[in-house]
Amino acid sequence: MPKKELDVTLISIPENLLDVIYTACRTCYSPDGAVDIYKNITDDKEKKLNLIKKVISSGHYSTIEHIQVTFAINNISRAATHQLVRHRHMSFSQKSQRYVKEKGEFDFIVPPAIEAKKDLYQKFLNHMDLTAKLYQEFLENGIKSEDARAILPNATTSSMVVSLNLRELIHLANLRLCTRAQLEIRLAVKKMCALVEEKEPWLKEHLVPKCERLGYCDEDKSCGRMQTKNG
Ligand SMILES: Cc1cc2nc3c(=O)[nH]c(=O)nc-3n(C[C@H](O)[C@H](O)[C@H](O)COP(=O)(O)OP(=O)(O)OC[C@H]3O[C@@H](n4cnc5c(N)ncnc54)[C@H](O)[C@@H]3O)c2cc1C
Repeated sequence: MPKKELDVTLISIPENLLDVIYTACRTCYSPDGAVDIYKNITDDKEKKLNLIKKVISSGHYSTIEHIQVTFAINNISRAATHQLVRHRHMSFSQKSQRYVKEKGEFDFIVPPAIEAKKDLYQKFLNHMDLTAKLYQEFLENGIKSEDARAILPNATTSSMVVSLNLRELIHLANLRLCTRAQLEIRLAVKKMCALVEEKEPWLKEHLVPKCERLGYCDEDKSCGRMQTKNG
């Protein structure tokens, strides 16, 4: 069965990320020009990190908007990509269901909650199988893939290249690492964050669910990680 697992790769992050943010931060507070600040930048990583952390914690987020990261994502459901594309400060290039015809059985993601229930899982697989056959029948009868796709489920896998700046990555993490977010998008964003943290471990404290940033849970009901504002 063409059931697939999520695959996320970080394909671009600036090598001189700290220098760029440090230059942006110092430009705001220094009598020197931005060019001179960049050309004479310190080699002291701690010094750079201290200023950057101070500026971010004071909410001066424009300084981290200069950093763009790009991910390649395979085997993510259309249900999850639909949630990702709601984020308006991200750029996307997604596999087209118009130009790419699904061949034979299409690939799909199975939600673990369904996979865990043997009978329901079998019904899920039967449904995918029936859908694949009908999709093929449509294509064989001259229906264009842009119309035949109308019957493909939310579980159908997709593939995309996603770019966003560091401010948006932090916002994305704050919203989508929350246990209120759906599992698949939570896992995708968790992988994206882990890949960035591998390169820049100092970002770990920022790539957290919103409750860790706020110090309380702003949802109606807490998952238990933090108390709601009213306890
Ligand atoms: C748990 C969860 C459940 C959800 N359920 C639903 C649902 O049932 N139905 C539904 O439709 N959506 C739902 N969403 C999607 C949600 O409403 C947002 O569309 C999505 O999370 C993008 O968030 P955002 O707008 O903060 O972020 P982005 O689009 O990434 O924007 C980042 C920030 O930029 C600012 N910004 C961006 N655009 C504007 C603008 N036009 N005007 C002013 N400020 C702007 C805001 O401060 C915003 O927070 C859900 C999201 C989550 C996390």
